[in-house]
Amino acid sequence: MTKLLFDGERSFKQLKKLAVGIGTRPSGTEEERRAAEYVASEFEAMGLETAVEEFEATTARVVSKKLEVLEPYREDVPCEVMPLFGGTAPSGVVGDLIFLDTADEEYLTPEVEGKVILTSAIPSNRKKAYGILSRLKPLAMIVIESSPRIPAKNLYGSLTVKERFGEFPTVRVTYEDGLKLLEKKAKRVRVIAETEEVKVKSRNVVGELKGSERPEEIVVVGGHYDTVLEVSGAEDNAGGTAIVMELARAFKGKGTKRTMRFAAWGCEEIGLLGSKAYATKLREASEKAKKEDENAETELDRTLLCVNLDVHGAYIGTNECKVVGPPELTASVKLLSKETGTAFTVEESVPSSDATSLSAVGVPSVTFARRAPTNVLMHSTEDRVKWLSPKTLQAQGEFVELFLDRYVANAAAFPFEKTIPDKQKKDIEDYFKRALRKPP
Ligand SMILES: [Zn+2]
Repeated sequence: MTKLLFDGERSFKQLKKLAVGIGTRPSGTEEERRAAEYVASEFEAMGLETAVEEFEATTARVVSKKLEVLEPYREDVPCEVMPLFGGTAPSGVVGDLIFLDTADEEYLTPEVEGKVILTSAIPSNRKKAYGILSRLKPLAMIVIESSPRIPAKNLYGSLTVKERFGEFPTVRVTYEDGLKLLEKKAKRVRVIAETEEVKVKSRNVVGELKGSERPEEIVVVGGHYDTVLEVSGAEDNAGGTAIVMELARAFKGKGTKRTMRFAAWGCEEIGLLGSKAYATKLREASEKAKKEDENAETELDRTLLCVNLDVHGAYIGTNECKVVGPPELTASVKLLSKETGTAFTVEESVPSSDATSLSAVGVPSVTFARRAPTNVLMHSTEDRVKWLSPKTLQAQGEFVELFLDRYVANAAAFPFEKTIPDKQKKDIEDYFKRALRKPP
């Protein structure tokens, strides 16, 4: 068996550097930039050919927030704002509460008009629901978390929803506080969700290791380094970024036949923006080259696979793998899982993560994740280093190193056809449509 060089302890140090040393790294902020600089300096120190690729993004910050019950009793309820859905004036909006099981179209009757919606889920079909809501014009939305004993999540809203359907100031409250609002029959509330949108520059950091035998064949191994607001993002995704960094060190040590590009993506949390910028550039350059010479072999043609690491490190958790590509790609992960005794749920499915940006332009992808049960840590202030362990980074890192070494970086001939089944192509289209995001 190949000697494995992945060091879980070293990777865990990188994780802490990002999640504790820098801390929260919201998309498009100064802290995000510092994290990018750190990853770039580490790639450079390893001796990788390192590029920092800038792209433009619109992000938002929270200026002030408050949820206040005015009638029939007075009480302040802690809440978190979902910026990018728009916001309220500094004085907020005042209106009557209306409770809906979900914000799906079945519940969106004229009664909603001018009210503050209290609900447990943003709609599954955004286009339909926000289409109706844009006519009914509720004053604001309060989203209740889906289970007790977890903090209200710090999630971004959606700029495309806002641009297409108007502003929907939205705040999130805990399950307990949601229940209390119902049980105490809160009637009239004030919601302050003051936000500020900013146009910023964000960046991807790409460290390249040239292949010794087949340098023209490129494999991208990446993970995003940004976070949602206010959370340290230890699991999501300092963990994945730390694995990418340690894999880069391992493969620099052992050498590769193919070219490996290790990538840290920016602005994933506001719509996969970093990986989309990378994929868009590949696609546009390819289209341009083919216009001039239809037989041109482009960088996009030569990009054979994307391996994506998003959400890693939880001590208590389970491993999952989502594959977009030919059946043998799925089979290879399944076989390796049985061989090594690292259990994975492997499925052919489109992840809501950076791999999908590359798959949208035709690059097959494998996304590895390790999730705490019920995803309890993700996007909340509980996503902290204390729940994570070097041991799980070791297990995941070794597995991915072995997968890359055997089948990808150093295989004699590349074993996976560069195809994406039609059904998955459709799933990718649907993913971007549902999320109201433009594909790369
Ligand atoms: Zn993530």
